Formats: sequence, C-alpha cells, structure tokens
Amino acid sequence: MPTIALNNGVEIPQLGFGVYQVPPEETADVVTQAFEVGYRHIDTAEMYRNEKGVGEAIARSGIDRGEIFVTSKLNNGFHRRDDALRAFDRTLADLGTDYLDLFLIHWPLPGIDVDYVETWKALEEIYAGGRCTAVGVSNFNAHHLNRLFDEADVVPAVNQIEVHPYLAQDELRAFDAEHGIVTEAWSPIAQGKVLGDPAITAIAERLGRTPAQVVLRWHVQRGDVVFPKSMSRARMAENFALFDFELGTDDMATLTGLDRGERTGPDPETFNYLPR
Ligand code: NAD
Repeated sequence: MPTIALNNGVEIPQLGFGVYQVPPEETADVVTQAFEVGYRHIDTAEMYRNEKGVGEAIARSGIDRGEIFVTSKLNNGFHRRDDALRAFDRTLADLGTDYLDLFLIHWPLPGIDVDYVETWKALEEIYAGGRCTAVGVSNFNAHHLNRLFDEADVVPAVNQIEVHPYLAQDELRAFDAEHGIVTEAWSPIAQGKVLGDPAITAIAERLGRTPAQVVLRWHVQRGDVVFPKSMSRARMAENFALFDFELGTDDMATLTGLDRGERTGPDPETFNYLPR
C-alpha cells in the first residue's frame, strides 16, 4: 500500500475505507470485513454516528493500533473552542483509542456565528497536546485556507474535498499542492454515479478492470488520497485491487476531461447544516 507524506512527515496510506452512511449497528462488522480485505485506513466522522462501531472493529481486530490510520472529523455543532476540545475527547472515547491519526474540521460553515479560524485554533491546541498526529480541514476552498495561512500557525495537513471525474477540482487541488496540503477525494466514485459513463466503461472493458477500479486508479495516479465506501465485501476487495495496473496518459486525460463541475454533495459556500 503506497503512503503519502503529510507536511509534518506523518505517512498516510493512500487508499482507505470510508464509513459515511454505514449504519451504526452494522459498522463494527463492516469495518471488520474491511480489515480482513486489507484496509488499514478508516475515514469516519462524529456526524456519521458510527465511531463506536469503528472502535469496536479496531479492538476486535487484534491489529496493532500503530498499523491503522484513523481519521475523524469535528461535527458542525462544535465549532466553539471549548466545544471542539470536548468533542475531540468524546471522539477518542468512542473510538476507544488514546490518539487519533488525523482530525479534521468537517465543514467551514460560512453562515454560523462562530468563525472557523477559532475552530482551527482549537485543532492547533489539540495537535500541540500530542493526542493527534495531524490536523486538517474538509470542504475548505482557497479563500478559507488563505485566512488560516494569515491568522493561524499550523498549515492543515490535508483538505478533504469532493472529487471525482464529474468534479475534477483541478484548481483547488493545485492550490492545496502549492501549499503542501494533501488533497483527499471524498465520494471518489460520486456514490456510483460516474460508473455507467460510456467513456469510463470503455476504458474498463479494454483493460479488463471494473469502472470503479478505473476511477479509483485515476485518483491514485493524480496523487490524491481516497477511501471508497461499500457494505459489500466483494466491492471492498474490488476497490482495494488498484496497484497491479496503470492508466496511460490518454486514459487519464479522458477521465479528467469528463469534468462538468457537478457536485453530488453540498456546496461548502452555502452549506450551514447544524445537527440538532
Ligand atoms: P463513494 O464515492 O465512495 O461511493 C460509495 C457508494 O458507491 C456505495 O454506497 C456503493 O453503493 C457504491 N459502490 C462502492 N463501490 C462500488 C463498486 N466497486 N462498484 C459499484 N458500486 C460501488 O461515496 P461516499 O461514501 O460518499 O464517499 C466515500 C467516503 O468519503 C465516505 O464514506 C466518507 O468517509 C467520505 N466523505 C466525506 C465527506 C466530507 O464532507 N468530508 C462527504 C462525503 C463522503
């Protein structure tokens, strides 16, 4: 499994397993299967309500904690400093671990009455306290990041954003890279929506691979981190088998050329959802 070095030297496995929309009561079993398939990087969030299940799977697995890379995210209701610190403690408790590999601000939330710079400074405190090996952001655009560069000390290690062939995000990915920030591509197969695209199925047929493998391989060759989600063990295995083939320059360009600026999820410029 290739790893990518974050801006503080921490290595992150380039391929992981995402657990958005995995029901809490099924999460321990699903993540256990992901570990059996070989995944060692799990992407969860307080918002997904399944950190306990991830923790249970880690405990059950018998795998050394140091062999597993765990990311979680600060939920939207906890942007004030004190709330963020408490939320981080709860996340650790729910995951049954005494440290996190990566902790992210889930959304910038432009319309709430807490400035995300305050939230970022809370993450800086958590990082300085040593219970998190890296901190980063999610769904930040360049102007959000510029404020952190101007007003805070730590440069985020990652920016986790929606990226797939219908939303290639080349401008923001280049901005991240220019500042030493690793881009993580969420909804890497657009929750399945890109898999029937004739340009993608044609490449898949020619290479004897599945459309999901072709799209995930495109992400890998672009240098982004990905963590596709699946509840099916066969698809977990399919999505894990990305490192024994390569896409040529033309195929890479074909996939990038499918960009049509189409989101499957919310737009960070307007998304202000707060959990009740
Ligand atoms: P995804 O692009 O990974 O697609 C998942 C869906 O595609 C599955 O539910 C399944 O129906 C289908 N699928 C998976 N493998 C397949 C295969 N091989 N063949 C056919 N269909 C297949 O979507 P996602 O779950 O939204 O994104 C992945 C992860 O990204 C999430 O689990 C989560 O960890 C993260 N994420 C983060 C944010 C954020 O705001 N930071 C938002 C969304 C997702």
